[in-house]
Amino acid sequence: MLGASRSANVSGVKSSDKVHKFYTKDLAVRASFVTATQLCSEIADLQDTDPLATIALGRLVIGTILLASQLWENQSLSVRMEGNGPLGYLYAEASFEGKVRAYISNPRIEPHSPVLKTLDFKEAIGEGVLTVTKNLPFQKQPQTGIVPIVSGEIAQDLAFYLHQSQQTLSVISLSVNLNSEGHVSSAAGFLLELIPGASEQVIQELENRTRKAPALSELLNQGLSPLEIMEHQVHGSPLVAIEHPYAIALHCRCSQDRVEKTLSLMGRATLAEMVLKGEEVKVRCEFCGKSYVVTLSTLRGLLTALED
Ligand SMILES: [Zn+2]
Repeated sequence: MLGASRSANVSGVKSSDKVHKFYTKDLAVRASFVTATQLCSEIADLQDTDPLATIALGRLVIGTILLASQLWENQSLSVRMEGNGPLGYLYAEASFEGKVRAYISNPRIEPHSPVLKTLDFKEAIGEGVLTVTKNLPFQKQPQTGIVPIVSGEIAQDLAFYLHQSQQTLSVISLSVNLNSEGHVSSAAGFLLELIPGASEQVIQELENRTRKAPALSELLNQGLSPLEIMEHQVHGSPLVAIEHPYAIALHCRCSQDRVEKTLSLMGRATLAEMVLKGEEVKVRCEFCGKSYVVTLSTLRGLLTALED
């Protein structure tokens, strides 16, 4: 199967960032595969990350896109990893339709940190919690699941979350590779979920195959298509593609209006202080880097609105 269709794809043309979805014909497994090289590269630029942070945040972004791809239309989710390691906290959000943004609190690790020698993600992220929040339309409250960080490698942490909070057995692989200058050269990943009622032997087979498979970056470099790579990873049942016609792109929800609402939420005392300072307020979005200016007269207006 793999050999036959492989030659057709050795075109050297890089696929653009996209989610590809499949299920196995025996209805045991559903799969999502994502390429996100350009997106992870843009996020690394925006967040000005060092190599370790680039890989960690890239992995979280890929994993978040994969989880979001298994939602329904108009739904989105965010994943927040809050450990006590030198990377601080990492956050990514993605919608079913592929709109993504991400943030890391410590994009650059101290040059003397021992973690730069060991490159150990467990140490870099540290102990803490992973929080997944799902925004589902028609529900007043977002749905939140919290689990301890068990590995720091992120793929295992997300699989642990799926098992603990959704009783879903899964195999997740997240791959971010850097070139010699520390820039993202490839970013991809996949999520295989065992459909409830399927034999648990299948998941062992999936785990075995993932363990033995060559690195994802290598398979992509060989020109294999997402379908061909996924055929390698599943247990032998043919794959059926599911239409998922969305391009993945960076998308920030920040706006002048949201900035002003956030200032209002800081309360009367803080706003009054800002007005008394007699200066406009400059705010930079921590996700996309866009700058906003709130003029003194707008600040006065916000304060008046709170006092009314
Ligand atoms: Zn923004």
